[in-house]
Amino acid sequence: MRQSTAAALRGALVAPLVALALAVPAALVTAPAEAAPPAQMKTQAPGFYRMALGDFEVTALYDGFVDLDRKLLKGASAEDVQSLLARMFLDNTPGVQTAVNAYLVHTGQNLVLVDAGTAKAFGPNLGFIVDNIRAAGYDPAQVDAVLLTHLHPDHANGLLTPDGKIAFPNAEVRVAKADADFWLSEEIAAKAPADAQAFFKMARNAVAPYVATGKLKPYAEGETLLPGVTVVAEPGHTPGHSGYLFTSKDQSILVWGDLVHSHSVQFARPEIAMEFDVDQTQAIATRKKVFADAAAQKLWVAGAHLPFPGIGHVRTEGNGYAWVPVEYGPIRTDR
Ligand SMILES: [Zn+2]
Repeated sequence: MRQSTAAALRGALVAPLVALALAVPAALVTAPAEAAPPAQMKTQAPGFYRMALGDFEVTALYDGFVDLDRKLLKGASAEDVQSLLARMFLDNTPGVQTAVNAYLVHTGQNLVLVDAGTAKAFGPNLGFIVDNIRAAGYDPAQVDAVLLTHLHPDHANGLLTPDGKIAFPNAEVRVAKADADFWLSEEIAAKAPADAQAFFKMARNAVAPYVATGKLKPYAEGETLLPGVTVVAEPGHTPGHSGYLFTSKDQSILVWGDLVHSHSVQFARPEIAMEFDVDQTQAIATRKKVFADAAAQKLWVAGAHLPFPGIGHVRTEGNGYAWVPVEYGPIRTDR
């Protein structure tokens, strides 16, 4: 009853306006009945996400994204890969949108950054780690340790500002000795294929000012780096590729670096490798082992190329695994 009255009233008001609008030449119509909304914002929420882990605080930081060609995935037919992508409503044009994430962990004793993003080496869609550290309320000068999962440019280039200065002036940079020995060796670089040369050069450049000031400290296997942090060797993607397991109270998160480049493909089919893996066979074996451990232990995990914030769990599904992302919410310290 009330609705039809309202509708009738609206009709009574609108009809004369419509008649008027039709009667008046367009040039004389000055303002619509209601003000237009403001311009669209076209900006996203700041690229950080925070969660509590026992007494630790974990902040995921968004560096940006790359569009990865599905052809970089190796060990399956193009049709298989395409159907796995389609199942997740993912488009391969111009490539599959793939996040680049880093993680800042406040342990109470240290402010630890795991990976540093790309800086501005790969165009305008990337290079926002420092901006997002600031958006998250910290300053790059407060970071006292940068733990690199490996020395690829999307993890190490951000050690420098776009003009080549040290981005984390009070941090020691730690990386597995096996990765430093490989990527920083001019001898190995000289023998590498031409299309891999740039990777070696970028790795050397990214750490050069830290080497010069004695701040790059490669660590040996089994070495303890910081309280509450355990190194998890994950060789294959690169020789010294490593994850970092942060533990506080009864909670742990494994920041696993580049174990997965395509969540839609490699959880279901962990045997599918990535072109950039230095040793694809070893990378596959490592992925299967870490997936199995993470699922069995119900670990929190965080991945550099998982959809932002890249934090969640791994569970078994059929013969493979599935990704269970974290849900957005406030910092919970009551569990
Ligand atoms: Zn990477």
